[in-house]
Amino acid sequence: MEKIKMNVPVVEMDGDEMTRVIWQWIKDELILPFVDLKTEYYDLSLPERDRTGDQVTVDAANAAVRLGVAVKCATITPNADRVKEYDLHEMWKSPNATIRGIMDGTVFRTPILIDSVKPIVRGWKKPITIARHAYGDIYKAVELRTDEGGTAELVFTGKSGKVERREVAALKGPGVLLGMHNRADSIESFARSCFNFALATKQSLWFSAKDTISKVYDGAFRDIFARVFEEYRARFEEAGIEYFYTLVDDAVARVVRSEGGFIWACKNYDGDVMSDMISTAFGSLAMMTSVLVSPDGKYEFEAAHGTVTRHYYRYRNGEETSTNPVATIFAWSGALRKRGEFDSLPELVRFADALEAATLGTLNDGLMPKELAALADGPAEAVNTRRFLAETASRLAAKLG
Ligand code: NAP
Ligand code: MG
Repeated sequence: MEKIKMNVPVVEMDGDEMTRVIWQWIKDELILPFVDLKTEYYDLSLPERDRTGDQVTVDAANAAVRLGVAVKCATITPNADRVKEYDLHEMWKSPNATIRGIMDGTVFRTPILIDSVKPIVRGWKKPITIARHAYGDIYKAVELRTDEGGTAELVFTGKSGKVERREVAALKGPGVLLGMHNRADSIESFARSCFNFALATKQSLWFSAKDTISKVYDGAFRDIFARVFEEYRARFEEAGIEYFYTLVDDAVARVVRSEGGFIWACKNYDGDVMSDMISTAFGSLAMMTSVLVSPDGKYEFEAAHGTVTRHYYRYRNGEETSTNPVATIFAWSGALRKRGEFDSLPELVRFADALEAATLGTLNDGLMPKELAALADGPAEAVNTRRFLAETASRLAAKLG
């Protein structure tokens, strides 16, 4: 069989621990036998980030901006324990945060559904994608605790010299205070990424906030979305999808009553909370994909889970593991499909579809990684990662051959 050709490389961002091991297995068994794979390779493993002073992460993100499609393996975000474990020069920043900063993107998380693992919400038939605004609000807030009474004020000094003040509270005794902000350009980028992703996936977009209470702050989010949507309205109508804004509590009620199949854009904190609720209600974190989309339509695909450290320590001791490779496989299929769409390579798009179908085929035949087998109704055999990949490779070869 002749291998499928590519023109433009995908940016490949390698990572750490168990997911780095699986990364290579996926390439060897599911991609390289079928595709004449072209990648621009960046090693984002923690030792390499440390060796390069984290320059490799910046280079990889710039490559994603230049080439438009990247696929990323999970990486360690170092904490104090990791600094010791890897004898690091510094506690490097989260690579995902660095990449998001450079691409100015929004993260969309979508569960992968299979027949035998039913969502906890019975009415959900299709995936629900969460988009989280990843800038500002309480994540970049200033906080203060006082053990005496006093007056708190919000003071803004403009570049022009104009000063605006609001009294926050006149406290009679001890209390706590918080000052947070957001930026109009960040909200606008968020809106664009959401509208682009809705068009690319032909799904309606919901956006929720609490503008009845927060008339100015959340009101600004609602207004910016409404203004940017006017640029997209005609394309939404053509695609038969809709955009609507609603209050966050109303959105929660509608989400639970819905059958899924839409994108829910959330403010930073709502997205933090709701993405864990949605992923847990759909089944397994290992079945959640994640894609970073920039406001001008550049894509970085990954699995939503981390490097699965506990499995890696077992693997290093020579033990077998049943780590779920599905979300990482879908990161590769997502990136290759997008490359195929951008470069008009229908063969590559077909390959991506076949890779996903083969993976779902293995799962729907009841062969599953251990954590998923435990959730399945009906017969399910827990298999180790190598067996899962081998079964998927033979189904893939049958589809392509
Ligand atoms: P994690 O790697 O997602 O793993 C948490 C637990 O969830 C695992 O111990 C495992 O449970 C289960 N799990 C997750 N993915 C699985 C899979 N594919 N197959 C089977 N089970 C899976 O999260 P973490 O332990 O909090 O973080 C580990 C490292 O990953 C950290 O250094 C963190 O910085 C990094 N991280 C990276 C990213 C990213 O690059 N996007 C995201 C999150 C975390 P059992 O052990 O019970 O089987
Ligand atoms: Mg969280």
